[in-house]
Amino acid sequence: MSMQVSRPKMLGFISEEVSAWLVALVALLAGGLLTALLALAAQNLSQQQLRQRFELLASERYSRIEERFDEQVQRLDSLRRFFVFAVEVTRPEFDGFARPLLQRTQAYSWAPRVVDAERSAFEQQARKVLGRDFSIREQSSAGVLQVSRSRALYYPVFYTQAMSDQVQPFGLDLLSQTARQATLARAAVPGAMAVSDPLSLLGVDAAYARGVLMVAPVFSEQKPEAEPKGYVMAVLSLRQLMADGLPGASQDNLVVRILDLSSPAEHEVLFQSDNQAADSSLSASHLLQLADRHYQLDIRPSVAFMQANRTSVVAAVAFLGGLLSLLLSALLYSLFGQRQRALTLVEQRTAELRISEQSLRDTHNQLHSVLEAATQVAIIATNLRGVISTFNAGAERMLGYSSAEVLERLTLEDLVLPQELHERAHLLSLRYGREISAAQAMLAETSQEGGSEPGEWTLLRKDGSHLVANMLVTAVLDEHGLWVGHLAICIDVTERKRVHEALAARDQLLEKLSAEVPGGIYQFRLNPDGSSCFSYASEGLRDIYEFDPALLREDATAVFERIHPDDLARVQLTIRYSADHLTPWREEYRVQLPVAGLRWVRGEATPEPIPEGGTLWHGYLTDISDLKRVEEELRALSVTDSLTGIHNRRYFQERLKAELERAQRDMQDLAVIMLDIDHFKRINDQYGHAVGDHVLQSLCQRINHRLRRTDVFCRLGGEEFMVLCPGSNADQAHSLALELWQGVRNVPVDGVGRVTASFGVAGWRPGEGADALLLRADSGVYAAKQAGRDRVEQELP
Ligand code: GH3
Ligand code: MG
Ligand code: MG
Repeated sequence: MSMQVSRPKMLGFISEEVSAWLVALVALLAGGLLTALLALAAQNLSQQQLRQRFELLASERYSRIEERFDEQVQRLDSLRRFFVFAVEVTRPEFDGFARPLLQRTQAYSWAPRVVDAERSAFEQQARKVLGRDFSIREQSSAGVLQVSRSRALYYPVFYTQAMSDQVQPFGLDLLSQTARQATLARAAVPGAMAVSDPLSLLGVDAAYARGVLMVAPVFSEQKPEAEPKGYVMAVLSLRQLMADGLPGASQDNLVVRILDLSSPAEHEVLFQSDNQAADSSLSASHLLQLADRHYQLDIRPSVAFMQANRTSVVAAVAFLGGLLSLLLSALLYSLFGQRQRALTLVEQRTAELRISEQSLRDTHNQLHSVLEAATQVAIIATNLRGVISTFNAGAERMLGYSSAEVLERLTLEDLVLPQELHERAHLLSLRYGREISAAQAMLAETSQEGGSEPGEWTLLRKDGSHLVANMLVTAVLDEHGLWVGHLAICIDVTERKRVHEALAARDQLLEKLSAEVPGGIYQFRLNPDGSSCFSYASEGLRDIYEFDPALLREDATAVFERIHPDDLARVQLTIRYSADHLTPWREEYRVQLPVAGLRWVRGEATPEPIPEGGTLWHGYLTDISDLKRVEEELRALSVTDSLTGIHNRRYFQERLKAELERAQRDMQDLAVIMLDIDHFKRINDQYGHAVGDHVLQSLCQRINHRLRRTDVFCRLGGEEFMVLCPGSNADQAHSLALELWQGVRNVPVDGVGRVTASFGVAGWRPGEGADALLLRADSGVYAAKQAGRDRVEQELP
């Protein structure tokens, strides 16, 4: 696995660990060196070519100049021959012969030999021939031509054929000047030819004035030993000789210089090109000969030559080489960089893989531990065919198989009760409308997401016993999301199911019992925030409140809206009290129901605190409307006088007590009127007891008729009656008593006649008790009796 061992080398020899920068730098340096060598070689080559080109040009120029020199010599020689072979040369003949020879020659002249004796004759003849003034002349020290002094011998310039239009130095005696004389002397041998030292030419354009004279002697054929009879002479301008017909200074590739080697000390420069010499080591020197003179021709390349031959090869090689080196180093850098990045990436990925491999192993171990630790849960994994591949400790414990007995041998369906499996398969076949096998029934509703409801299955233990389990089957997916098997998780619910069934039976019992019990039983919960609900409400509560018990289980608020407004505050108060003091709650109250109308309800409940706050009551509610009615009837009976139908003494006493309390509390008036039928015993005696009863009834009707609604009319016993008048004082009671007295005595009772009664009145005095009040009324009746009956006695003091 070691990367070090199998690590390849870049390009076969460079270790990949070398920095890409370094490789690029080395490549760049090597490329630079190679480029420099190449440039050097190119430089040498171009220098060599330059030299060859220069030498070619120089040699060509040399040949040309040498040729020109030779030409000059030959032409002068031909002119000489012309003079030698002619007996007499006339001026037209000279002109005709010399004119075609004027090629790069300033002038050709003929200077005959004149002895002093013949001087004037010659001058005369010359004037005639030339048609102009003529005398033999010499050059003064100031350089001006003047008539020559007399000498023994003269060689004056006579015939002249010149390029220039300038006046020719006719008559100039060649012997009059040292340089010219020396030249003539050197040439004074038959066949010889001499060239003068450089001198300023006369009769020549100023630009061409520097030049030489080339002279050749003409000897008489008859007397060759004698002095020459004259000299032919070519006037040569070196400038013309060198530059004429060659490229102009600006275009000329060569810089030419001619040195006069004949001058003894310092060689005079006879000609120098106008153009500028290039700064170069190239140069060529040749020896030139013109007649008896030697010249040195120095040739150097001109600036124009260097410019024309300036080569860009070196620069191109340097540029291209540099560019290539740069590109190569960039390529290598990129190549190495990429390769190194790729290798780094591979290393990184490998490290990551190793980490994830480790984490996978850890996860696997954890999973294994979890599987083994989950002893209460059976975890069974299968392949797609249902064959078991994992069977954890919980499964072993639950089903009694060891995993070795199960793995790869049994399928999940082998662990399920066959009968149940077939029933389930049948049901599923009906539902999906196609045949579903027993094996498929197990997995038919497998969920991919694990969100399906666990199903209840009866599993078979190894020993053949059954157990009920909740089994959730989910799909096992591989990393591509394909199903590769199933995972079944089972929880033994046998015990839970038994408890559940027992609880259900208990609930059923409770339902039945509560259905049999009149009214309803309930569990009422009051929360700390004031909300309330019936956490349990039997069906009986439906009739009590005319609400669905299920609704009351959520919220009890609606119930309080059904309670009679007069009773609501009391009921809420007592509930609060019961909660605060944890005392049993017991209350009777009215409810106003939409269907049954007003009903009486009795409730009883025992509170207990809820640990998390609030109070919980267990109790019952029952409809006591019928009971209430009987009770009220009994009550009415107990306070009613059965003979007359008015209230009896008990009722009177209760009311008197209550009214006294109220009068005392509210500081209201209260009065009583007491009456006793006069001589009733006689009526009984005379008409019988039944008639007596009738009299009592009739009298009561009359009195009742005259009383106010607030007045309370009671029979105290026998023929004694009492009227309780709340809100009336003694005077008002007296007035009422008078009315009642009149009402009794004015209308006779059927069969009996007038019946009278005696009335006593007492108004309640603050602080007075019931007995004292009644005693005063009774005393009033007694006083009325004493005073003769059939009257209303004033209130006694
Ligand atoms: P006085 O004028 O002094 O009151 O004479 P009186 O006869 O009314 O007085 P007394 O109290 O002695 O008699 C009352 C009688 O009323 C006696 C009793 O027989 C009669 N009596 C009491 N209760 C009833 C009753 O319910 N029915 C009838 N018929 N008679 C009754
Ligand atoms: Mg009486
Ligand atoms: Mg009486």
